[in-house]
Order: sequence, then C-alpha cells, then structure tokens
Amino acid sequence: MIEDKNQQRTQLNDLGEFGLIDHLTKNFKINQKSTVKGIGDDAAVLNFENKKVVVTTDLMVEGIHFDLSYMPLKHLGYKAVIVNLSDVYAMNAIATQITVSIAVSNRFPLEALEDLYAGIETAAKIYNIDVVGGDTTSSNTGLLISVTAIGEVEDNKEIYRNGAKPNDLLVVSGDLGAAYMGLQILEREKEVYKVNPNNQPDLEPYSYIIERQLKPEARKDVIKLLSDLEVNPTSMIDISDGLSSEIIHICKQSKVGCDLYEEKIPLDPQVISTCEEFNIDSTTIALNGGEDYELLFTISQEDFPKIKGNPSLSVIGYIKEEKEGVHLVTRAETKIPLKAQGWKNFND
Ligand code: ADP
Ligand code: MG
Repeated sequence: MIEDKNQQRTQLNDLGEFGLIDHLTKNFKINQKSTVKGIGDDAAVLNFENKKVVVTTDLMVEGIHFDLSYMPLKHLGYKAVIVNLSDVYAMNAIATQITVSIAVSNRFPLEALEDLYAGIETAAKIYNIDVVGGDTTSSNTGLLISVTAIGEVEDNKEIYRNGAKPNDLLVVSGDLGAAYMGLQILEREKEVYKVNPNNQPDLEPYSYIIERQLKPEARKDVIKLLSDLEVNPTSMIDISDGLSSEIIHICKQSKVGCDLYEEKIPLDPQVISTCEEFNIDSTTIALNGGEDYELLFTISQEDFPKIKGNPSLSVIGYIKEEKEGVHLVTRAETKIPLKAQGWKNFND
C-alpha cells in the first residue's frame, strides 16, 4: 500500500558501498558526552567513566518481523531503534548510543534507504542518542536491520528481572494489547487492498492502535518518572512478547509466584472496541499480544503511595511465594494458571 511513494529510483550500485554509507550517515551528530569517536574510524570509542554500561541487540528480518506492504520504511527505521531502547530502559539505564547494521537487496533504491535512515535519525533525535557505527552489506532477497543499543546507569541502579519479593506490587506503564490489534487491522486492510486496490479504508477509528503498531515509543519517560518519584523497582522487564510471558520471566527468575488481576489490566477503548469487532477476548490480547514496549516492574508496598493515582502507571498484581504459582484472577474471581503462550512463537 505505502511502499515506494517516492518516485525517484537511484540504484544502490551507482553509489558504491562507501558512497552509500557516507550518504546515509552524513546527518548524524554527536551529542553524548560519552561518545569520544563516532562513525568514520574502524570502531567507535566510548568513555563511560564510572558508570555501568548496558548493551542490547535486536535483529529484524523482512517477512518475519515486518511486512513492507504496510510498514513504511521510515517507520521501520524508527521502530528498529525503539525496540532496542526499550530494552535499555528496562534495565533502568539511559540509552546513549546505537549502531545500525543493514543488509539490502538491489530491489531497494537509494530513496528507500533514505526513508529508513530518516526514521532512525528521528528516533535518535527524540531519544537523544548518537548513531556511532554500523555495517552495510547486500542480501539476496529481503531487508535485514539489526540495531545495537548502548546505555549507561549509575552503579547499583540497574534493575534485573530477578529482584521481585513476595508482597511486592506488580505495576505496568501505559496500556496493553493495542499494537497487536493494530496489526490485525493492517493485515485485514492488506487483504482488502489485494481484492480492491481502489478501496479507501477509513482507518480513523483505529488510529491509536495502528500508531502503536507502526510507531511504538520506548518508555524513557517512565524511567525518569520513577527516578523523580524516588521509586526503586525491585525487578523490571519491558513488554515485547506479551504481559503473560513477561510476568512468567520475572516470576521464574525471582523465584516467586504472582496473582494478576484481570480487572486491573489497562486497556485503551480502541482495543476494547476492536476486540469486540473481531469477536476476541481483550484480556487474551493484553496477555499474549506483544509489541507493547511498556515497562512491567515490581515495587515494595512502601513505594505504593508514591505512584498511587498516577495516570501512566497501573498496579495489576501482587507477588506471592513461589509455591503459590502464577495466576490470572478473573473478573469472576476464578484463578487460571498463566501460560507464556505468545502468538508468535519463533518470531522474536
Ligand atoms: P569496516 O570495513 O571497518 O567495516 P565500513 O566501511 O563498513 O568499515 O564502515 C565505515 C564507517 O561507517 C564505520 O564507522 C562504520 O561503523 C560506519 N557504518 C557502516 N555502515 C553503517 C550503517 N549502515 N549505519 C551507520 N554507520 C555505518
Ligand atoms: Mg563494515
């Protein structure tokens, strides 16, 4: 639908590898104090002095993680950065640098890569990170993009998945399930488009959930909020695969159990109405949908007054002893064991 709005097509071969790298990276500026040397040498040089450094990588493959028939390349570039920043923030660190590696086939003109890099540049500006390197190579078929993100955190401030304690509260930022429902709408419209390319769908009723799929954000603001409120989470993880599997990660690694309250799970009205339209249960979507990039964390009860009533944060559960197990407490007050189902099995 959206691919190739750009009329001009400059063949990648016309530039050569070095010309291409220069062209794509010429706008990147260095803002971080810790960046000593960015793009242009054999390796970047960073100096974090007495801070701890966190490093994380994600690889995204065309046809597996994204579909260019509805994912504009600018959004793909943005999202490839965001999914990595989310992992940095989930350690309670601040993201400082990324590297970007791409493999492209000659089916992509230069203008397509310009769009991809415009998205990367936008994310770098908004989240204040330096692009300090990468690699560029060719692929026989599709597009691959791999981003590595680096962040800094004061010693002893990093937060792991394994620190949750019985009687802690389970807290989540934002709302859940929207990105998955946005994907359902985009998949449906793709099928409609195949049959009737002239059909102009009205996507306005789905604007929020589509945006959550195509232009997710990482919760840097929540890390700052927690720091400002002087809340010290005992464990933390970001929600990439769905609430259910992330709760199970925290519980397994912390050796605790948990009660998750169905009625407390935050849902946007567009998620509720779209689930009704598709005749699927919104709790199932919130539990298993994935790609929310919200933060899930535990706090001791002492910290509860500091977050109480905050519109960005919802208390959704209660940490228990390991032997109690991990359960969903339904609206009907029955208890169902949580499973790390996930819709996508191998796709992450
Ligand atoms: P090398 O041969 O040592 O791998 P390259 O010619 O691939 O070096 O890269 C030259 C410089 O450009 C390096 O600083 C590298 O990190 C950077 N670079 C290469 N490809 C990309 C890319 N796709 N995005 C950002 N920086 C890149
Ligand atoms: Mg290289």
